[in-house]
Amino acid sequence: MSHDILDVLPVAVYITDAEGLLTYFNDAAVKLSGRTPQIGVDQWCVTWKLFLPDGTPLPHHECPIAIALRGGEIAEGREYLAERPDGTRFWFSPYPAMLRDDQGKITGAINLLVDITDRKLAQDKAERAALLLSAIVDSSEDAIISKDLNGTITSWNKSAERLFGYTAEEIIGKSIEQLIPPDRLSEEPQIIARLQSGERVDHFETIRRRKDGTLLDISLTISPVRDPSGRIVGASKIVRDTTETKRNEREARLLSAIVDFSDDAIVSKDLNGTITSWNKGAEQLFGYTADEIIGKPVTVLIPPDRLDEEPRIIERLKAGDRVDHFETLRRRKDGTLLDISLTISPVRDAKGRIVGASKIARDISQRKRAEAEIRRANQDLEQFAFSASHDLQEPLRSVKIYSELLARRCGDRLDAQALEFLGYVRSGATRMELLISDLLAYTQVSKRERVAESVDANAALSIVLEGMSGSILESGARITSDSLPAIPMHGARLQQLFQNLIGNAIKYRSNERIPKIHISAERHGEGWTFTVLDNGIGIAPEYKEKVFGLFKRLHTSEEYSGTGIGLAICQRIVEQYHGRIWVESEPGRGSAFRFTIPVSRASDG
Ligand code: ADP
Repeated sequence: MSHDILDVLPVAVYITDAEGLLTYFNDAAVKLSGRTPQIGVDQWCVTWKLFLPDGTPLPHHECPIAIALRGGEIAEGREYLAERPDGTRFWFSPYPAMLRDDQGKITGAINLLVDITDRKLAQDKAERAALLLSAIVDSSEDAIISKDLNGTITSWNKSAERLFGYTAEEIIGKSIEQLIPPDRLSEEPQIIARLQSGERVDHFETIRRRKDGTLLDISLTISPVRDPSGRIVGASKIVRDTTETKRNEREARLLSAIVDFSDDAIVSKDLNGTITSWNKGAEQLFGYTADEIIGKPVTVLIPPDRLDEEPRIIERLKAGDRVDHFETLRRRKDGTLLDISLTISPVRDAKGRIVGASKIARDISQRKRAEAEIRRANQDLEQFAFSASHDLQEPLRSVKIYSELLARRCGDRLDAQALEFLGYVRSGATRMELLISDLLAYTQVSKRERVAESVDANAALSIVLEGMSGSILESGARITSDSLPAIPMHGARLQQLFQNLIGNAIKYRSNERIPKIHISAERHGEGWTFTVLDNGIGIAPEYKEKVFGLFKRLHTSEEYSGTGIGLAICQRIVEQYHGRIWVESEPGRGSAFRFTIPVSRASDG
């Protein structure tokens, strides 16, 4: 048989006898298989090695032609993989056919191998690309949804599940309108119209609805999807949740409104000290407009003798510290100085790095003036009280001396009534003397004192109790105390406190029981709280504040002696040490006078 036509055919062709032994092959078969088979030796196939599509090696006696010669069927279009001796591989589809003689007896077979490598590779690439795409879509942070032109949802990724609350099974095949709040339904036809004209919709900001009915702010980017012929068949949407951004924007707007309307000057600067923002309050306070000052160094506001403050403030800010109520002087545009209180906080960027500072400056000129006035008034008052009490002593002494002389020298010439009156004069003078000495003691407390020492409260208490031993004995009072701490305070001042409080506890005892007095101290946050507890007559609630006032008494001198200055002195002492004094009491059962002495600040005296 002549093989002329087969010889030049660009498709691999070979022929075997009934045993499967090769009787013919063409050039294309050599080219495809990468080898020159041996006629009469090679059996079943021209290829070197054969595999099934999944990569399992296929022995040659199971190759398509072997099966065909055994009478088996080979489905058309089956695909096989083969390897050439040089290691390269190719895909092919075999087309085997039986050769029979006139009697119909099988004499052999002819096989045609169609090279499908290019098609297979292209298909592979497309499959890989599709896989990659779906992996990207699945792992995207954005919700990615596609729909056809009827608005039916055709795909739905993981982020869409998270964002809207529907699973892919629940929503695919449903209308996109399910996600749109009723008042926004008109948006959809508009979007579809734009898509149909081939347009893309970019960052369309709107509101959509979750499965649970809640609304969410989103930004949509929608692109038309085309079929291979270029016709638009649907749309893909990328949905970004902008709820957070929207909230941040709202907060930023609110914040800037607050900053704008604040009466305080709010200024920000970078770490080089260049002013970067300036509100209305700052304009009013310093006299510069924002245009004039932004971009200028903050040092234009600082008087020359305070310039060293700035580097120190910057150092603290860089360390992440906040500077609170720093009182200083600043300079207005017109050169005048003003007292301000600065609160400065570091400003951080998104990564948490400190990039600048925001300052709130409050004008405290008025407060400073008022403080100075109060200080002056207080000094005047003290001076007055001191000289008054001092000068009063002189005439008082005359009253005392002459009433005494009168009693001694002329006593026998006076009748009973005159003597009684003279007695009143003398006791009045004695009482006045007491008042004056207490008033002097009170004015004395206001002298500012530096505390260098710390006092052992146990020792102070012992000294006081020793001095009071007479009245303790007389009253039968039982006085106990816990172990007390050492505190930064003048010993004499603590003694004055104990003296007054324990003295009162004895004085205002109840006749119905043995007076019991207990002194204790308890540590609290910033210092110590002392308590002087008694079981005396107690104080009615409405007088709890009043008893600390100067000359405030709840009793007459006939009932209880006293001037009404003792507790006022106690309050003055405690306040000098930045502490507090108060009373807790149950009328008829007793009182607890408590005072605090802060440890940290007490040392500023
Ligand atoms: P004085 O004792 O000289 O009157 P104080 O300033 O020491 O002045 O006290 C003011 C008033 O507070 C007293 O008149 C008294 O009525 C009341 N008081 C003070 N201590 C006690 C106490 N421990 N129990 C009951 N009342 C008290």
